[in-house]
Amino acid sequence: MDYQAHFRSRLAALKDEGNYRVFMDLQRKRGHFPQALWTHENGAGDVTIWCSNDYLGMGQHPKVLAAMHEAIDRYGAGAGGTRNISGTTHEHVVLESELADLHGKEAALVFTSGYVSNWAALGTLASQIPDMIVFSDSLNHASMIEGIRHSRADKVVWKHNDLNDLERKLRSVDPGRPKLIAFESVYSMDGDIAPIAEICDLADRYSAMTYLDEVHAVGLYGPRGGGIAEREGLMDRLTVIEGTLGKAYGVVGGYIAASRELCDFVRSFASGFIFTTALPPAIAAAATASIRHLKESDRERQAHKAIVAEVRSRFDELGIPHVKNPSHIIPVMVGNPGKCKFLSDTLLTEFGIYIQPINYPTVPKGTERLRITPSPVHARGDIDRLVAGLHSLWSDCQLARRPLAAE
Ligand SMILES: *Cc1c(COP(=O)(O)O)cnc(C)c1O
Repeated sequence: MDYQAHFRSRLAALKDEGNYRVFMDLQRKRGHFPQALWTHENGAGDVTIWCSNDYLGMGQHPKVLAAMHEAIDRYGAGAGGTRNISGTTHEHVVLESELADLHGKEAALVFTSGYVSNWAALGTLASQIPDMIVFSDSLNHASMIEGIRHSRADKVVWKHNDLNDLERKLRSVDPGRPKLIAFESVYSMDGDIAPIAEICDLADRYSAMTYLDEVHAVGLYGPRGGGIAEREGLMDRLTVIEGTLGKAYGVVGGYIAASRELCDFVRSFASGFIFTTALPPAIAAAATASIRHLKESDRERQAHKAIVAEVRSRFDELGIPHVKNPSHIIPVMVGNPGKCKFLSDTLLTEFGIYIQPINYPTVPKGTERLRITPSPVHARGDIDRLVAGLHSLWSDCQLARRPLAAE
């Protein structure tokens, strides 16, 4: 086989479909994020990032940076081993107890990323409980889908956020079989929120475990940043809460929080937990500082809410169509991959605004969009430039507008 020719032809096909991903070479400016330097083939220029998952700017928070610097000076760079073989540092132990406390659970387990935590925890629970059947929301993240697939357990996909469909599917299965319902709180591409209480009711009725991915909610919702389940007083009803340290907490890493036995079970049987080098202690220390800060400070969450509302209302004034959802994610629908890429490219080159186009397979074809994530570190001037840029492009490209409120 001509391997290189195979790679070339598959990549060419991706490009033809408009689904080839181009990465931006960025240097975030500490203290000035969301501003960054973009290096490209013709030089470099300043851009404002409007699509980051560092939702609160914690990646540049002085307390987080101080904790990381201090830990590097104290311990050095890496953990030096897997968790099993010399890599469980004091900082990991402290971080796990901080996370257990955040979610009101007995224990927590830290992984190298949120992706790995979903893949390993779901893979282990679904494969190591005999006869398990997993009920998976149709819009679950790739990491959950891959974990369930890897387990080889039976899987039933239920219609996104559809309680009737979930119940119908739960009812159709032998009542004695072990069951796990896997879903998210805030869905990252549409920004809608699952009916967590009602899903927990169904789980009780059909004796199922629940597994909630709160990746886009931890740090952001709830009085201490425990997520949507904390805000709604539901944390104790969930079997497993999964989260990331890489989005609102601004660092990197993932985790599950659950009962002592469940965490010990995953710790003991999950290959993706055991056979990989532990996160550097400086990462664990920085994450702990970020979680602790957001447990006590509500200021960032309030400012986040205010700026999201402001951007939405500025869009409404100009008829820029965005999806009305109850979260902080603002999807501006374009509905065509070529146009979406064109809008993104033009915002970048003409206005210095970086918003990554979201195309298939991340979202279904025909729902291509610009996914905008305002943060408390965006200034008034940044919003003005974003709104002006979109306003001008909407006119130039003759894109449909929403009827204005006054009309
Ligand atoms: C980003 C994401 C993950 C993975 O988290 P990382 O820490 O980035 O690996 C898991 N679930 C959802 C819903 C996500 O959007």
